[in-house]
Amino acid sequence: MRETRTLVRPNILALNPYSTARDEYGGGSGVFLDANESPFDTGFNRYPDPHQRELKAKLSAIKGLPEGNIFIGNGSDEAIDLCFRVFCEPGRDNALILSPSYGMYGVCAAVNDVQVRELRLRGDFSLPSRDEILSLCDNRTKLLFLCSPNNPTGNAFDQDALMDIVSSFDGITVIDEAYADFSGKGSLRWKVLGTDNLIVLQTLSKAWGLAGLRLGLAFASEFIVGLFSEVKYPYNISGAAQKAVSEALERPIDGYVRDILAERGRLEAELLRHPSVERVYPSDANFLLVRTRDADALYSHLIADGIIVRNRSRLPLCGGCLRITVGLPEENDRLLKSITDYEKGHIH
Ligand SMILES: *Cc1c(COP(=O)(O)O)cnc(C)c1O
Repeated sequence: MRETRTLVRPNILALNPYSTARDEYGGGSGVFLDANESPFDTGFNRYPDPHQRELKAKLSAIKGLPEGNIFIGNGSDEAIDLCFRVFCEPGRDNALILSPSYGMYGVCAAVNDVQVRELRLRGDFSLPSRDEILSLCDNRTKLLFLCSPNNPTGNAFDQDALMDIVSSFDGITVIDEAYADFSGKGSLRWKVLGTDNLIVLQTLSKAWGLAGLRLGLAFASEFIVGLFSEVKYPYNISGAAQKAVSEALERPIDGYVRDILAERGRLEAELLRHPSVERVYPSDANFLLVRTRDADALYSHLIADGIIVRNRSRLPLCGGCLRITVGLPEENDRLLKSITDYEKGHIH
């Protein structure tokens, strides 16, 4: 196995990062004449903490990991982009992704001019074997993205199978756990403490209900968190977001998660009673992948009725499929009612 340091782009290893005078000061209140801010108190006239210390302390307590193993990004999307910028030489290195999965891995790869190698999940959405995965890698394969629970299929992968792949892939494995709070399989984030080549992503956009504040988390070795922190924009998390998230973290989400899981079960059962629905795939997330008789027709009907779901029918293995987020009970009822109306016109 290559040492993690040797996987990093040389220009990033050599980077002389931006630093602020306040880093050198380190104290609390003072007379701040260093950053050309306005002295007039607007609530936001000071630059925010570039190290997000208060947030990291709270997240450390919630997630059970040391602050030095936590990176906070402007959404998980920033952390995904940083994986490419830190590890992949544009035009030379490549990354392996499974399909169907989250679209941003491929978009970030393309933006960074990194070749993508794609491997299909099995027909039942389970993981290909470790050997199939490794056979697509070469010494220019720096990143492997595994999303569990997977978007859009909804299933979580077996944790032992995931760790088996992590320990045999000679590069950085990124496990995206955006939906882990909804899954009985739980999280692998603690594994980053003993595993140098693992990055686990989470987000506050889903179970925490804070998508509008843009906060993504990457758990990794102190070495990788250090590199991400040097490469990110210094003030990547705004003062408003740091303040609002810090307050939101005081309110537990267990009740919301329980409600979503109960609604997910009800929605699944109700959908299965509809003749336009062929199959509802098992979900470890806050959405259902639903195979329908005619995805385009149903999708258009729903849109015309003011109900927006995601048409995933053109993705590999997802023919006929719509991805439906679990909403409030009354929203789910509106969806079900609209499907009933659709069937009056289409199913005889
Ligand atoms: C929703 C989602 C995210 C979250 O992205 P943010 O930028 O944090 O909002 C990350 N990964 C997957 C697979 C997702 O579905």
